[in-house]
Amino acid sequence: MFLSSRVLDLSESVTLKINEKVAKLSSSGQHVYNLTAGQLPFKPSPEFIHSLERQLNFLKSYQYSPNAGFEKLRSKVIEKTAQKRDIKFPKGEFDCVLSNGSKQSIYNVLGALINPGDEVVVITPYWVSYPEMVKLWGGVCTFVKSKTFDNYTPALEEIEKALTPKTKAIIVNSPNNPAGIHYPEEWMIGFAKLLKKYPDLVVISDELYSEVSYFDPRPSYFYQHDPELLSQTVIVDGISKTFACTGLRIGHCIAPKKITKAVAKIQSQTTSAPNSLTQRALEDFDFDLLQNFFDPVKQQLRTCAQILREKFRDHGLSHCWYQTTSAFYCLIDFSRMPFFESFEAENSKDKSEEIVEAIFDQIGVALVPGTAFGHPNSARMSMTLEIAPFEEAMDRLVGFMAKKSS
Ligand code: PLP
Repeated sequence: MFLSSRVLDLSESVTLKINEKVAKLSSSGQHVYNLTAGQLPFKPSPEFIHSLERQLNFLKSYQYSPNAGFEKLRSKVIEKTAQKRDIKFPKGEFDCVLSNGSKQSIYNVLGALINPGDEVVVITPYWVSYPEMVKLWGGVCTFVKSKTFDNYTPALEEIEKALTPKTKAIIVNSPNNPAGIHYPEEWMIGFAKLLKKYPDLVVISDELYSEVSYFDPRPSYFYQHDPELLSQTVIVDGISKTFACTGLRIGHCIAPKKITKAVAKIQSQTTSAPNSLTQRALEDFDFDLLQNFFDPVKQQLRTCAQILREKFRDHGLSHCWYQTTSAFYCLIDFSRMPFFESFEAENSKDKSEEIVEAIFDQIGVALVPGTAFGHPNSARMSMTLEIAPFEEAMDRLVGFMAKKSS
């Protein structure tokens, strides 16, 4: 075979099959409740669109930017992050590298850190690309499981047990895709204490959904409790979710300079830099305007979360419910649902894909199988649909799940 073993070893996207089915049915005119989306279904704020339009008139918007991104935007991102998190980055010791989406930031950071055989701790459920990216750089994932009934918050003892002399990094994603929760402040305090014992362990803190939090308390971070930990932290964020700009592909990492230099080096030999037009529009844009834009989104997420709770309660499924608080998602664990009996009988294999297909075929609701997130017998549901169709979809879904097999 002429393809590299590296590529042959990569997992195929499990969303492909369901997306193909959704597209086929929608194009044939049939109504489908598509709850697979990982993005907001509308355009960014008018003020940001105006910033983009203004920058269309400048030659610099069409030319290369420095590999790490424009200096002015990098400083602005560092300053805004410090302000939002109420922290101070030690002067001159940290930098920011802008990339083509936070996905590329994470990929570059892993490349900067991992030697073949190094271990990376990944908490399940995880964002779909972490394990594959670790694998691409020759690293090995050690998985630490979290459970639905602990609100998908992993036990710190389990994390500590997973650490070995080969562990290079841990990826922490709070708020979490796919669980739709953020880890509580007590967890972050405990995690900060744990990290003090492991000064060589790097934390990749994926904070892409930090502003997408619709029930108090807001997300907090371990380094806010002990700022010295910033020296072993890489903060990853981007504009995809909070600016509703997944297609403009801008993400960033903030880290001690020895890491950002290595990240910029990888970038300089691969993709150069993200697009100059969007970088310049971001330089020009007042980030504080985002709050007005995002408030209605949070209101909708709150309403959807409440609908979900009521539907679960009304169908006797409260024991399968947990409170979502952030990001756009809920991870439904099928394993204690009445309908599950008919799936579990034969063997203990993960039935996520089978169940998601049955749900789609029988009630027209599309979900992403939990296989993608390393959580068996589950599915991720997006809560970005408008209220009325979301409520209809929930009636169908909860009706399906509450039914005992005959
Ligand atoms: N991290 C998490 C947790 C995500 O959910 C996503 C996208 O859905 C990404 C990173 C990558 O986002 P982007 O590359 O669009 O910034």
